[in-house]
Amino acid sequence: MIKDTLLYDLLSIKPDACENDIIVAYYEMAERHHPENLKEKNHDSISKFDEIKFAYDVLSNEQNRKFYDENGYEATKEMFDKQDEFSYDNYTSQNYYGSLINNEYDFYQTPKITKNLVFPLKVSLKDLYRGTKKNFDYQVLVICKDCDGTGFKKVNTDKKCPKCSDQEEDSNVRIREICSECSECLTCAGERVVQEEKKIEINIEKGMRHRQQIAFTGLSNQKPGYETGDLIFILEQSKHDTFSRHEDYLIMKHTINLTEALCGFKILFRHLDGRLKAITCSGGEYFHNQTVKSIPKLGMPKLNSSDYGDLIIKFSVNFPESKSLNLEKIKILEEILPPKRTIEFKEDEKIVEVTSKHVDKNFFDYESDDEIRYAVDENLPEEAFLIKEDMQEEFESNPQRIECNTQ
Ligand SMILES: [Zn+2]
Ligand SMILES: [Zn+2]
Repeated sequence: MIKDTLLYDLLSIKPDACENDIIVAYYEMAERHHPENLKEKNHDSISKFDEIKFAYDVLSNEQNRKFYDENGYEATKEMFDKQDEFSYDNYTSQNYYGSLINNEYDFYQTPKITKNLVFPLKVSLKDLYRGTKKNFDYQVLVICKDCDGTGFKKVNTDKKCPKCSDQEEDSNVRIREICSECSECLTCAGERVVQEEKKIEINIEKGMRHRQQIAFTGLSNQKPGYETGDLIFILEQSKHDTFSRHEDYLIMKHTINLTEALCGFKILFRHLDGRLKAITCSGGEYFHNQTVKSIPKLGMPKLNSSDYGDLIIKFSVNFPESKSLNLEKIKILEEILPPKRTIEFKEDEKIVEVTSKHVDKNFFDYESDDEIRYAVDENLPEEAFLIKEDMQEEFESNPQRIECNTQ
């Protein structure tokens, strides 16, 4: 059971969000709330950004997320605050990509691997249909070559510095006290890593999907004493004007008018392969608002296969404007169309004629009461039914009460 949803709310996601949802939501929120992108910088905007980062750092780590789900916000915050070196309050808002990388704190002992470097990659539906290559520029931290990641100037090993030779040697922990003889590496300013501009070519294969991950093993930020995590791209497909997609289906919505629905029509559309396609529907087959047609093999390519999904066309029908036909034409229509149904009623019964007026379709947007009741019944836990049955028995064994209730 989840204790609270505060961190999920910060990223505007649901508690059952998957890993990709969390990453994408974080990027969207971080971009929106990043102090550099805000016109007015104030303390609130910076703390909001830090909260978003905190939410991401907790939720993007499986164990941290589990801890948060079970123990809630306060306990998680407290736990993070205890980690002195990487305290939540020590974050800087300078580089939000940095937070994906540099805070490798965990509540539990996990293998020392730098965090995956994750970027969303914008693609079009056409890219996913045809396959393409994308170039991507990014910055990554690499171990300083000039000092081999020690952070210190290279010194002659035969002549070990007499002043600090008695200091403890630990390849993972940088010795902070340095004397004048062995000063910091000038290339990395003692940081042990340097930032490098990189360019990478990403192969988008035919049939790949929105939110699919493409991973490059071991290309994340480097850190001495750590294994290097992965560079990961998450495909973000932009909306297409004509088509939407479900699995390997392409879906197209098409509106026709009443005449076309009854007498036939032609559809002309440009497919993702670039070609103009035509579909002719001759009259006699009537189309209505729920008509769905499928065209085999005109959907998306199936990944790692030469096969294609289907194209689905969903139809809707526009009726002519009210009062656009005069009575004469309506008479003709009536002669052509199937006859009206006759209403049966008892001859001797009096009928009251009433008139209706037109209201907007949003005027009455409610379920009827019995529909609501049945819907609620379906959602009731099992105990609720047991109680109901008990009460039923009681009523049945006590007819007096039933009478009372129905009065
Ligand atoms: Zn020294
Ligand atoms: Zn260096």
